[in-house]
Amino acid sequence: MDRASYFSNSRRIVVKVGSSVLTGNDGLNLKAVRSISRQVSRIIDQNREVLLVSSGAQAAGTRKIGLSRRPDELPKRQAVAAVGQAGLIMEYEKAFARDHKKVAQILLTNDGLSHRKRYLNARNTLYTLLSWGVVPIINENDTVSVMEIQFGDNDNLAALITLMMDAHILIALSDIDGLYTKNPAAHADAALIPVVTQITKEVEAMAGNLPGSLGTGGMVSKIEAAKKLASAGIPMVIANGNRPDILLDLMSGKALGTFFIPKKSRLSGRKSWIAFNLKPKGVIRIDSGAEKAVCKGGKSLLPSGVIGVEGEFQVGAPVAFSSNNRILGTGLVNYSAADIRKIMGLKTSRIKERLGYKPYDEVIHRDNLVLTADAPAED
Ligand code: ADP
Repeated sequence: MDRASYFSNSRRIVVKVGSSVLTGNDGLNLKAVRSISRQVSRIIDQNREVLLVSSGAQAAGTRKIGLSRRPDELPKRQAVAAVGQAGLIMEYEKAFARDHKKVAQILLTNDGLSHRKRYLNARNTLYTLLSWGVVPIINENDTVSVMEIQFGDNDNLAALITLMMDAHILIALSDIDGLYTKNPAAHADAALIPVVTQITKEVEAMAGNLPGSLGTGGMVSKIEAAKKLASAGIPMVIANGNRPDILLDLMSGKALGTFFIPKKSRLSGRKSWIAFNLKPKGVIRIDSGAEKAVCKGGKSLLPSGVIGVEGEFQVGAPVAFSSNNRILGTGLVNYSAADIRKIMGLKTSRIKERLGYKPYDEVIHRDNLVLTADAPAED
């Protein structure tokens, strides 16, 4: 499929707006809020659905409270975000009202989405809002998030929402035209990359690690998000949110920004939940024969190909699997870590003799197994 067709065929779109776009000299960049709201309204009028993932709360709150820069301490950051979030939603509400659209505020935490029931509840709420023509405006719930349960950044949150909602594309708006060969802030000879077909180590290296003064993710987290989506068969584009009509131009097929083309077909909702919402409880190391069977042959993982187990986990746990120190994917295991240690390397026919029982032939059945590595093993 060509680039323009990906956009014209996208019925459900996630638009992530970075804090770099939403931050003006005096707090919130109202011009950007209005421009994006107007464009999203137009896209909805084209009979499409749009979910907005919006940063900007911390930046807006910082200025409102009268601080000169974003505080470093977590409680102060959380408090600042709480102040900013209210103003942010109020401005979106006003802006969307001009086009007779309603908005809803959705605040999510990562641990919420790793419970299947809460994940499904969140999804149902969002589906209902979309069916009513309401624009969900999503952000991380900064008040309850502490380090280990944070999405990390809104690029990651936007990728998870795209997967959860089976959206067709993620558009990440930043203050820059797309991914450059190097950080353009530091290198005058940096060149824009229009299309990325595979996220190789070289592509990751281009992102560097120099986020904008008020942004947190920088390009690194955008590449991470694109990688996740590519492995689920979903395209992503990074484009400049300050460019007038950027969303409308993208939707009409103009080749702007950096477009990440997925090479895989789409993952089912359940498989993407296994791969991206569950935190692996351990790692199963497999040999090259098993890697070939699982990654190229679409087979289940059998005990004979297992060469090591890291961590302790029970039956049904999400566990990553790796070959040559490279994580290849995640799956739900049929055996505990202790049992896998006993049966690793064995033929299936010998499981019963070793354990005294054999509920399954496979360590991970292929229906519960998802490949997440994007680059081929040779890389
Ligand atoms: P946002 O707030 O929109 O999520 P950030 O400000 O965190 O975005 O990240 C975007 C910034 O990343 C750019 O403004 C740029 O300074 C920086 N950056 C670093 N490396 C690159 C690169 N290779 N291409 C583009 N931008 C880069």
